Amino acid sequence: MGRVLIIGAGGVGTVVAHKIANNPDVFTDILLASRTKSKCDAIASAVGNNRIKTAQVDANNVNELVNLINSFKPDIVVNVALPYQDLTIMEACLETRTAYLDTANYEPENEAKFEYSWQWAYHERFKNAGITAILGCGFDPGVTSIYTAYAAKHHFDEIHYLDIVDCNAGDHGKAFATNFNPEINIREVTQKGKYWENGEWKYTEPHEIHKALNYPNIGPKESYLIYHEELESLVKNFPTLKRARFWMTFGQEYLTHLRVIQNIGMAGIEPILFEGKEIVPIKFLKAVLPDPGELGENYTGETSIGCRIRGIKDGKEKTYYIYNNCKHQDAFHETGAQGVSYTTGVPATVGAMMYLKGIWKGMGVFNVEEFDPDPFLQELAKQGLPWTELFDIDLEL
Ligand code: NDP
Repeated sequence: MGRVLIIGAGGVGTVVAHKIANNPDVFTDILLASRTKSKCDAIASAVGNNRIKTAQVDANNVNELVNLINSFKPDIVVNVALPYQDLTIMEACLETRTAYLDTANYEPENEAKFEYSWQWAYHERFKNAGITAILGCGFDPGVTSIYTAYAAKHHFDEIHYLDIVDCNAGDHGKAFATNFNPEINIREVTQKGKYWENGEWKYTEPHEIHKALNYPNIGPKESYLIYHEELESLVKNFPTLKRARFWMTFGQEYLTHLRVIQNIGMAGIEPILFEGKEIVPIKFLKAVLPDPGELGENYTGETSIGCRIRGIKDGKEKTYYIYNNCKHQDAFHETGAQGVSYTTGVPATVGAMMYLKGIWKGMGVFNVEEFDPDPFLQELAKQGLPWTELFDIDLEL
């Protein structure tokens, strides 16, 4: 049905490559390209059967990307490199008139700030070029946004309160490790908290608001209000929302390590001079921390991510909780990667399928909640991430 270029050979790239290779009826030809070709080769050989070709590319370089796209001629580019590369890859897609999909919004390398404005600014150019860009098609953003769209479509006349709850109750046996790229992860969780209420953004100190929430099959876990990128597009696309918040669980050990890392300056993104050479502290830190892609083997426990929603149906108030639980061990046995990479890579694969099958279509730049959630969720369940719904329950929030 279609040719796909995957860019990025980390934890998420590993899952995307496995899942895409396992769906030959949709993905006929696959090229996996990244900065370090040996990592692509290792993934291709783990997948086997010569299903995946590999290439080296510097995704910061538009010309290199254009040459690669012109030589392989993919129908869609799945960007699972870093958020820093979003705009260069979008530029290359525009120049070659190729569809684009990613899992994280653009973030400038020299400023710890992420928002959709940079990518939304491409809407007219993508529309005029007659091509599609699908933004934020991982789990969160991604499935959480699609859960919200599904709730709005099937269960509510108006959704008023949305709480996205993200719990990782896994244990990887390391004193400190992040579940996806450490640089991006630490930048994300150390920033100020932010949520939407009564038509405006409210700000908090980092991790200032927290409470214990009960997660299915897991139990109570301390959950912290942080800012997460899907809130920005969801409050725009669901204007009935009076409040939208995002909660993530952190263990005490993790928070203590994070505080020390910040206090000693290791989370810094400004270059410093070290033995005559410029280094960026957080990049150096990434190099000494465990590689999230390697955590899978000893990872036990599970993730639980979902949306708790309160709103109105037929004039009555209603509560609703939709979620998925994913076991790290199951993810590892299937793809060689842990649950967080798995819950990101499977939705990215399904998003690319929706595009290639012609189910999700449109010219311009779209967030995933703008498409029909039903075929996506049905396929997502088939590909390993089923959902559960609970009605009229105590949302705890
Ligand atoms: P990794 O750090 O494990 O992998 C990133 C990959 O991108 C690496 O292979 C890296 O190459 C490659 N890369 C980095 N810079 C370049 C470049 N200039 N040119 C080409 N390739 C490059 O990250 P993850 O797999 O954990 O995460 C991938 C993406 O998924 C990130 O954007 C992350 O934010 C997003 N994500 C989204 C989630 C969601 O639910 N929406 C959840 C988790 C992650 P090298 O191997 O040489 O370092």
